[in-house]
This record gives sequence, structure tokens and C-alpha cells, in this order.
Amino acid sequence: MATKASASANSGAGDDAEFYMRRALELARIGSITPGAAAIGCVIVRDGQILGEGHNEVDLRHDTTAHAEIVAMRRAGVAAGSAELRGATLYTTLQPCGMCSMAVIWSKIDRIVFGAGRADVHAMYFEERHLDTVDFIADAFRDDLVILGGVLRDDCAALYYGPGDDPPPEEQSNL
Ligand SMILES: [Zn+2]
Repeated sequence: MATKASASANSGAGDDAEFYMRRALELARIGSITPGAAAIGCVIVRDGQILGEGHNEVDLRHDTTAHAEIVAMRRAGVAAGSAELRGATLYTTLQPCGMCSMAVIWSKIDRIVFGAGRADVHAMYFEERHLDTVDFIADAFRDDLVILGGVLRDDCAALYYGPGDDPPPEEQSNL
């Protein structure tokens, strides 16, 4: 990602970010072989503890909001006994969509760390506009939300169709 990402990368997210991203990758891989789930993994961490984690369960739950990030936020909320998750970091294998970024805003999570970004994967995973919703939401709503992209980028991107791939039409659910 752009400037915020590189600024954050130099300010110490480093090893912890890779450690938790590896867990998110494990969850994504579990999602990829679970019927009705999908290969996006998410971990929410506060004070060195995983509060909630999960993978995409949209088809499994017949719930269009059951993205990995939302699944993890719901579990983290239960674990924390609060919908507000101040001081937490959300790690996700793929740049979060507008819905999940917005939920991060409402949950008061401090930091979003993602692996693969828009440019690393096929366009079907994102809204087909020039607007990058994660930037838009951070700029529009919170000056203090830290967004760090590209952590284990190659490992994460390997889970998805690449920009030059030609996915079968039945898998292009967002288009
Ligand atoms: Zn989402």
C-alpha cells in the first residue's frame, strides 16, 4: 500500500506482524479446504493474546457478512466482553473490504495489518472502482487508525487468483 503502510513498516510492526500473519495464513488454508468457507483468514490480537480468529464462512452460514474479519471480530467481542476492541490489531490475509474496514472503525480496533493488497490479486476480490475503501475509510473517519499492508505478501497472494489469472466465471462472485 501507499505511504501509511511504508511509514508503519518502519516503526516496528515487524516480527509480531509476521507471527500473527502466519496464524491468519493457517486459518485461510483451513478455510480453503472447509466446505462453504473460503481462503481468507483473520486474527485479532491485543496485548499478545489472540482474542478472536476465523476464516470466511459466508456460504457455510448463508450469511453475506460472515467475512473472516467479521467472524473474528464477533469472537473477539465475546472474549473481551465488549464490542469495543481498543488497543487491538486485526491481521488479515487479504486487504479488508469496505464492510470490514467500517466494522474496524466501529469496533475501535487500533490497527489493520493485511497481507495481499488490491494490486496483488485478481480484480474480482475488490470493488471495481478507483476508490480504495480502506484508505477512504481511514481518511474519512479516523486519523489514528494504522494500516499496514504487504506483510507476508507473497504467501498471502498465493492463496488467491493473481491479477493476470482468468478465474472460472462461477468463481467470480463479485463481478
Ligand atoms: Zn470483508
